[in-house]
Amino acid sequence: MSPRSVIRAVKHAIGTHPQSEITVSASCLTGGCSWTLTATADLEAADLAAMTHTGRTGHPTFARTFQDVALVRRLELNAGQTETSPLPAPR
Ligand SMILES: [Zn+2]
Repeated sequence: MSPRSVIRAVKHAIGTHPQSEITVSASCLTGGCSWTLTATADLEAADLAAMTHTGRTGHPTFARTFQDVALVRRLELNAGQTETSPLPAPR
């Protein structure tokens, strides 16, 4: 008898964890400027803060980092399974 394995493609989807939120942090890219934006989930306020910085200084470029907790969901159930696993808590 030889070992066998059954491998099949299983559909998955990825998205932001429903108990997570997207945050953004930013820093000004103009040489010598130390302006930074601490990570915030208020994306509109982050945009406004950067635009305010540009208005005051003329510095137009920023490095922005967006972060979330991603959740991959298996879209098909295993045989005998009646529901998908509960959501894990984000960190
Ligand atoms: Zn700046």
